[in-house]
Amino acid sequence: MSTQAQDLVAGRSCDGCTMCCKLLAIDVLQKPRGVWCSHCDQKHGCTIYESRPDPCRGFYCGYLRLPQIDDRWKPSKAKFLINYEDAANRIVIHADPARPDAWRADPYLKTIRQWAASARQQGGMVLVWAGSRATIVLPDREIELGTVREDQLIVPVERRTPRGIDVTFEVRDP
Ligand code: SF4
Ligand code: SF4
Repeated sequence: MSTQAQDLVAGRSCDGCTMCCKLLAIDVLQKPRGVWCSHCDQKHGCTIYESRPDPCRGFYCGYLRLPQIDDRWKPSKAKFLINYEDAANRIVIHADPARPDAWRADPYLKTIRQWAASARQQGGMVLVWAGSRATIVLPDREIELGTVREDQLIVPVERRTPRGIDVTFEVRDP
């Protein structure tokens, strides 16, 4: 689902925040996730704003799009940003490697676990990236996947157990 500027939550803006310029991987710039873009002035924003690549032009994080979260979730404050990846049907938390556990604090984790419960019912997942390290959030626990490459797949695998269907996740090469 593409997002247009008119779909954004009224009153929310990027003012004072440049976190996506650190946390996201931008392939056309060969910028890995979790490191500052060389074009980012952390105080003033993008130094190539008029010619910034398309992935930057079209990106609006969850803070700008989700009315149900409040200003505590602004990435400059929370130290992570939220995105939804349609193709993979997953909610992705991009955590600052300098504060990789910030999303586990109140009020975030409780809400993120609620998203995990909804995602599981719909065949999706909640994934946290902290640099190249990946963690899956489930309604009652987290699964640390360790270092995962950009090209690898994260696949849910269901198993029957005496308690019912359990789910685990495997990292597979493409
Ligand atoms: S992380 Fe979100 S609020 Fe911060 S600059 Fe990027 S799009 Fe704007
Ligand atoms: S090109 Fe500009 S908008 Fe894109 S990541 Fe770099 S600093 Fe941010």
